[in-house]
Amino acid sequence: MTTTTDLVSYEDALASYDPVMGLEVHVELGTKTKMFCGCSTELGAEPNSQTCPVCLGLPGALPVVNATGVESAIKIGLALNCEIAEWCRFARKNYFYPDMPKNFQTSQYDEPIAFNGYLDVQLEDGETFRVEIERAHMEEDTGKSTHVGGATGRIHGASHSLLDYNRAGIPLIEIVTKPIEGAGERAPEVAKAYVRELREVIKALGVSEARMEMGQMRCDVNLSLRPHGTEKFGTRSETKNVNSLRSVERAARFEIQRHAAVLGGGGTIVQETRHFHEDTGSTTSGRVKEEAEDYRYFPEPDLVPVAPSREWVEEIRAGLPELPLVRRNRLVAEWGISATDMQAILNAGALDLIVATIDAGADAASARKWWMGELARSANESGTALD
Ligand SMILES: [Zn+2]
Repeated sequence: MTTTTDLVSYEDALASYDPVMGLEVHVELGTKTKMFCGCSTELGAEPNSQTCPVCLGLPGALPVVNATGVESAIKIGLALNCEIAEWCRFARKNYFYPDMPKNFQTSQYDEPIAFNGYLDVQLEDGETFRVEIERAHMEEDTGKSTHVGGATGRIHGASHSLLDYNRAGIPLIEIVTKPIEGAGERAPEVAKAYVRELREVIKALGVSEARMEMGQMRCDVNLSLRPHGTEKFGTRSETKNVNSLRSVERAARFEIQRHAAVLGGGGTIVQETRHFHEDTGSTTSGRVKEEAEDYRYFPEPDLVPVAPSREWVEEIRAGLPELPLVRRNRLVAEWGISATDMQAILNAGALDLIVATIDAGADAASARKWWMGELARSANESGTALD
């Protein structure tokens, strides 16, 4: 069932309202085994072939924490300028859904492993915008449902559903921003730039390939509007599982226009989840959003607390690679180009290619001209990725 959504123009929406965003990004870690058991995380295996009593939630099975998962979480936390908890626990997030065999997700609630950080992101014109990070916490992925027999692949109209638990228990890090205020008309651009910078950081750390098209990284876009000059946040909508950079930007833009139309018409925004549709660039209503108390969180009794020693945290910090924004700023200086030139290189997906070409012996100017000129043009014309 699709109903048309009233929108106001983007300019009109921004003339009356200030957007406030919150971005929640899930990253699937590239560990060899799952977060709480020894099952393989290899993609593409026969359904339900990579499961055991722990990740199937069988009675009496006891989980054990994956040390590499914790180390990856700390790396991400440090790269995002977060404080690392001296002591934290896992919590059970209780909800009932067929793709979650235990009927709870092992997550973290009020004791995340990393908190209070920030990530500086660069906009198209080279300007820097600081996105404050609320927390980064450890949790596990769910299994995968496939709804069969319907036209849309959604549960409505399906005759039956298939469940694959190979993904259940794969480690996830959820990174949550503080409310992003003050971006104004650039809010959708900030959202896109943030997710891109975060993806670059995750890749540089080597903790995940962070391929959005493979679902290894997905973004929930929370958005609300408030009239100019007011402080109080409006009611937010949460557009779930947006899985490309372009879609993150489009989803934020669409929601700004939709909220403005509802509010401007005297209506109220329903706090709910929304689905984003790639084909139309629009969102449609999902389910009414649960509040935290609906999940009956409580500390996980089967896992010991995580208490990373300060020595270990400092050792991890000392081993962090050069982070992407620092690297780009260094290359901008070395190559003698502008910040917008670098943005164009980034947009074209040419940065690593240019660096590799220089490493192979070319001078910087020729390498840039080669990749950003003829090769970018022919890649664009033939619709293939530059690499
Ligand atoms: Zn398992």
